[in-house]
Amino acid sequence: MARVNDSYLKLKAGYLFPEIGRRVKAFTDSNPDAKVIRLGIGDVTRPLVPAVLDAFHKAIDDLGTSEDFHGYGPEQGYKWLIDTIIEKSYKPLGVDLKTSEIFISDGSKCDTANILDIFDLSNRVAISDPVYPVYNDTNVMVGRTGEADEKGHYEGIVYMPCTEENNFSPALPKEKVDIIYLCFPNNPTGAVASKEVLKKWVDYALETDAVIFFDAAYEAFITEPGIPHSIYEIEGSKKCAIEFRSFSKTAGFTGVRCAFTVVPEALTARSESGRAVNLNPLWNRRQSTKFNGLSYPVQRAAQAVYSDEGWKQVQDVIDYYMENARIIREGLQSIGIICHGGVNSPYIWLKTPEGVSSWDFFDKLLIEANVVGTPGSGFGPAGEGYFRLSAFGDRDQIEEAVDRIKKNLG
Ligand SMILES: *Cc1c(COP(=O)(O)O)cnc(C)c1O
Repeated sequence: MARVNDSYLKLKAGYLFPEIGRRVKAFTDSNPDAKVIRLGIGDVTRPLVPAVLDAFHKAIDDLGTSEDFHGYGPEQGYKWLIDTIIEKSYKPLGVDLKTSEIFISDGSKCDTANILDIFDLSNRVAISDPVYPVYNDTNVMVGRTGEADEKGHYEGIVYMPCTEENNFSPALPKEKVDIIYLCFPNNPTGAVASKEVLKKWVDYALETDAVIFFDAAYEAFITEPGIPHSIYEIEGSKKCAIEFRSFSKTAGFTGVRCAFTVVPEALTARSESGRAVNLNPLWNRRQSTKFNGLSYPVQRAAQAVYSDEGWKQVQDVIDYYMENARIIREGLQSIGIICHGGVNSPYIWLKTPEGVSSWDFFDKLLIEANVVGTPGSGFGPAGEGYFRLSAFGDRDQIEEAVDRIKKNLG
C-alpha cells in the first residue's frame, strides 16, 4: 500500500470558515427574516474595471486569429507584463529591477507555498501570530514541523506574537531563525511597517543570514505617505528578501488569478557544503519545471491595470473600499470600540469589549446586529480578544451594518 505524506495528518481541520458558516446557518434557520450582512470573508466584491475588461476581451479575440494566436508562453511570464510592472510599480519607488527578477504566477497563495521547494527542511521559520494561515500550514505540509499543541502552535516554528503592546508589529526573534515571513499591510491586523521598522528587519536578516518572505498583497491600499510599498525601498534588501505581490486585492483578480514574485539576483542562501547559491536560478528552475505560465489573456488583463485609464479606474475602486473602511472604523469608534487598521488596509481589527472572547463577540454581532465578521482567534491564539471586519463590500451594506452595530451594541 502506498504511504501518504504523514505531515498532512498533523494539520488541524479547516476550522474557522466552516465554523462561521455553521453558526450563520443555525442563526438564519431560526431567524429566516433576518437580513444578514457578511463582512467576514477577505474577497473583493466590485467588478473588474472597464480598461481591464477591454484588454481581456481583446486578448481572447487575439487567440482566435492565426496572427495573434498564443500557445505556451514563457514560464516566467511575458516580458511586456514584467517590464510594465517594473516601470509602473517599482521605478516610481526608486527601485530598479531586472526582467529576470520577476516571475508571473497565478497567485500569491501558491507562490508563498511553492517557494518552500527551494529551501531545505532544516531551516528554522518565524511566523507572526495572528497570521494568514497559508504560511503556517504549508510549512506543516512540507514536513518542517512536529505536532500542534492545544493552542494550534506547531513544534519547530518560531511564533512572533503581534498584539496591541507591540502595535501589531512583531519583535525580532530571540532565537536564530533562517526564514522570516512578514506581511505589510497586514492581513488580518491591518498594521503597516514604517521604513524604520522594515530597515530593522532587513538589517537583522543581513546580520543573521536570514531570508525574509515579504507579502505585499495589500500595498495598493496604503493611503498614508512615507510608508514603504515594497521591501526593496530598504537598502540591502535585495540581498535578503523575496517579495510577493498580487493583482487579487489590488485589481479585483481574486477570480481571474494573477500575481508575481520577485527573487533578486543578489539573493543567496547556502548549500549543504556551505557555498553561497543564488536563489533566482533555483526559483527559475522550479517554475520552469513545475509551472507552465499564466494564460495570455490574463496577462494582458493584468497589464491593462497599469494603463493610464486602468490605473485611474483601479484606484477609484480602492478608494471606494477605503471609504468603506473609514465608515466602519469611525462608526465603531463613535461607540467606544477600539479599532486598528482600516487606514492603509481594507481590514479593521477591533478589540472586543473587556472579557468578551472573539467567538462570543462573533455571536453577539450576529444575533444583535445580524452582521458577520471573523473572530481574531481564528488567525492564531494571539488574535484572541480581537475581531476582523472587511471593507470589501457594497456601500449601502456597509452603512447599514454600521448603523445596526451602533444601534445594538452602542
Ligand atoms: C489575499 C491575500 C493574498 C493573495 O493571494 P492570491 O493567491 O494572489 O489571491 C496573499 N497574501 C495575503 C495575506 C492575502 O490576504
